[in-house]
Amino acid sequence: MNVELISVGTEILLGNIVNTNAAYLSEKCALLGLSLYYETAVGDNEKRLEETLKTALSRSDVVILSGGLGPTQDDLTKETAARVMGKKLVEDKHSRERIEEYFKNSSMKKITENNWKQAMVPEGCIVVDNQNGTAPGIIMEENGKTVILLPGPPNELKPMFEHDIFPYLNKKRPEVIYSVMVKLCGVGESAVETQIKDLIDKQTNPTIATYAKTGEVHLRVTASAPDEKEAKRLIRPMVKELKNRFGNAIYTMDEQVTLEQAVIQMLRGRELTLTTAESITGGMLAARLTNVPGASEVFRQGFVTYCNRAKRKLLDVKKTTLKDYGAVSEKTAKEMAKNGAFITGSDVCISLTGIAGPGTEEDKPVGLVYMACSYHGKVTVREFHFKGERAKIRESAVVKALTMLRE
Ligand code: ATP
Ligand code: MG
Repeated sequence: MNVELISVGTEILLGNIVNTNAAYLSEKCALLGLSLYYETAVGDNEKRLEETLKTALSRSDVVILSGGLGPTQDDLTKETAARVMGKKLVEDKHSRERIEEYFKNSSMKKITENNWKQAMVPEGCIVVDNQNGTAPGIIMEENGKTVILLPGPPNELKPMFEHDIFPYLNKKRPEVIYSVMVKLCGVGESAVETQIKDLIDKQTNPTIATYAKTGEVHLRVTASAPDEKEAKRLIRPMVKELKNRFGNAIYTMDEQVTLEQAVIQMLRGRELTLTTAESITGGMLAARLTNVPGASEVFRQGFVTYCNRAKRKLLDVKKTTLKDYGAVSEKTAKEMAKNGAFITGSDVCISLTGIAGPGTEEDKPVGLVYMACSYHGKVTVREFHFKGERAKIRESAVVKALTMLRE
């Protein structure tokens, strides 16, 4: 079954908005194991949209359109698609009630005449509720072809896709797809690829796809089978093999779990408390950790000690250390971590000090970062040389710190 995407909106063609819907939908289609060969963006123009849709229908089984379902004049996706599919628009009672309900619950808005346009749907179609707006999604099926219309705003499109369209497409497929995401940290992408080259070379079902993120590598293992049980059975030996090869570098096999979540879970499980002492990352590490719900059980305090005075006053870093070794030094990192743990009474304190650039400091190179970790008074320190621009260096440092905390 092949699928094709059409993103509707002049704003996309003008570069006013980035087409994140297409990226999102492509990824989901890949996840479903659907073949996607074409993606088109077209402006809010009836004639060109009609041509584009007809072309798409001539070569694809399923066409997904996003955008142009709103109440205004330039929103003409539904009208055009219904015409191409040879369907009349009729009022959908349920959608009308939902629109009334939506406006009743939102204090500032008043229903205008054109809002009722959104309750008109192609006859015989499947109407998909919009939990976050008024325009319903629409599925039309005719002569073996399927046209799916989704609202443009990503906060409406994504939940609708997740909740209704994904299961719909999954059911339509002759086979089910099941996948597991194996997430690794502390190993580089090329090292990972080398270690699994043999598995990739001979892969058929399941397949392995690698995704590199800053400081992390994710491996998606996907199998297709007539049912989920069989797909899971196919995946199991491959996942076991990956566990053998990567061991502790795997921080989760749960798609939803982030590295910071894994760190918080690990610390919580061991009943350890944590403090951060940041210079180069200015609180970014603390922000990521406290983003995790329930972090308060673990996270005590975050110091942001950017200047030398702050390192001295808040973290008791010795004046002589800063003078003799500099702020970006092993010794400063160690004192920051050790004293941070002592001051807050935490089991663990991690410190980061480094040079994010673009300018160098203390005659030391851009990208040089020292991280120290104090664990019950025992302090270990590591030196890193990160590459890239300022933002990349800071992000890499945060991910490395999270990786170090896991160890
Ligand atoms: P509305 O009811 O808001 O008019 P709509 O379904 O008619 O929704 P559009 O008018 O095409 O959708 O787009 C509304 C907004 O949704 C855009 O201004 C933009 O912010 C966002 N949007 C639309 N298409 C995309 C896209 N392909 N990628 C990312 N965002 C998009
Ligand atoms: Mg619109």
